[in-house]
Amino acid sequence: MTDKKIRTRIAPSPTGFLHLGTARTALYSWAYARHFGGEFVLRIEDTDVARSTQDSVDQILESMHWLGLEYEEGPIYQMQRLDRYKEVLDLLIAQGKAYYCYSTPEELDAVREAKKARGEKALYDGRWRPAPGKTLSSIPEGVKPVIRFCNPPDGDVTWDDLVKGPITISNREIDDLIIARTDGIPTYNFAVVVDDWDMQISHVFRGDEHINNTPWQINIFNALGAPLPQFGHCPIILGDDGQKLSKRRGAVSVTAYEEGGYLPEAMINYLARLGWSHGDEELFSREQLVTWFDGTHLNKSPAQWDPVKLLWVNAQYIKQADNSRLAVLVAQQLVKLGIALEQSVVQRHLPLLCALLKDRCDTTVAMAQWAAKFYGDVTPDAAERAQHVTEAVRPAIAYLSEKLQSCDWDKASIGVAIKEVLSSHGLKMAQLAMPVRVLVMGTAQTPSLDSVLEVCGREKVIARLGQA
Ligand code: GLU
Repeated sequence: MTDKKIRTRIAPSPTGFLHLGTARTALYSWAYARHFGGEFVLRIEDTDVARSTQDSVDQILESMHWLGLEYEEGPIYQMQRLDRYKEVLDLLIAQGKAYYCYSTPEELDAVREAKKARGEKALYDGRWRPAPGKTLSSIPEGVKPVIRFCNPPDGDVTWDDLVKGPITISNREIDDLIIARTDGIPTYNFAVVVDDWDMQISHVFRGDEHINNTPWQINIFNALGAPLPQFGHCPIILGDDGQKLSKRRGAVSVTAYEEGGYLPEAMINYLARLGWSHGDEELFSREQLVTWFDGTHLNKSPAQWDPVKLLWVNAQYIKQADNSRLAVLVAQQLVKLGIALEQSVVQRHLPLLCALLKDRCDTTVAMAQWAAKFYGDVTPDAAERAQHVTEAVRPAIAYLSEKLQSCDWDKASIGVAIKEVLSSHGLKMAQLAMPVRVLVMGTAQTPSLDSVLEVCGREKVIARLGQA
């Protein structure tokens, strides 16, 4: 390691929610900074004014907060740094490293078409690029210029990518990039360089869709005499159909998983493991991740999003989670099901229920669906009712109801009452338990009966058994 301070950043564009791919690179950037005692910066790249929204900014900030990815600096908004970009643009123009280009879109299209027809790459032809001895056309009236960067015409750009290893791209493959639009707002590739330079970013982790931008950025860094950060390009995440993970193929926003009842530590664990490994470890804490994550062992090839594995990871964290914490989360999910609980219930009763449910549910949404059977109304499944609540068993149910009126209300006493009914009516456990479950919980598949009845409460149990 160099003795330079490690500074990483994540630079989402607020044109939508925080995408899982961005969340993963944010996580790697965060963990890398933490591992080396460095700093992590959040920058909002909002120069695409037409597509950026405050709502997206809010969602991104909220997702970062939910995931627990704290940053030392930020959010820094690019649109608040326009003066600085202008200063650097002016400097590059004064040094002959950038120039105004007055080509109209129609002209550019014509050049592109002509190049294509000749079988050449459709690059800008450099007509406004100044050169010794070259006479430029006279400046057309009424055309607002863009600013282009004088990209080196030949030679190669090479960097040792932290994820992919050495990458070389020829300057002949790329052209004089537009670095400021006609309205003076800089484009991504320029603003990102000025920012990474000013913010002293030492390591850039980002998605590999940016690999083709990196040569331009390196050339701009060099033109500015700025030190280069190290780049690490993480492969895209594939959906379970092998295609790029996209909205059409399921949830891709962090928010959707928060709403879907996942715990942030499960998301962190799953996202980290998706594209990186530490031996065979599948379950690890945030602290372990920080201890282990040194930028090595990042996968070179795309990872596949596996919803089933994510559910499994989430289930493991739910099992370990504190019941009072789960109660708060389940209560939020219950609101979406139309059940608003009193604060005292959330604090005192719901944790008991969570203790009962957390071994069998893989999300807090699933827990809430169960909890709704305790707090809301229950309509037994008709088929199950017909199958289990038979004439033969009704007297036993009535007798159980009677016993439950007067027994102590704890799991052990309820268990004794059930056993007494079984022996007095000559029934096997399942013959009584199934109809009681159907009546009380609406379904024959529930956690252990005595626990269910205990947590459901005497009044509700007796009322529901009365529906037999
Ligand atoms: N705003 C860019 C994006 O969201 C950032 C890319 C980068 O990290 O340089 O893809």
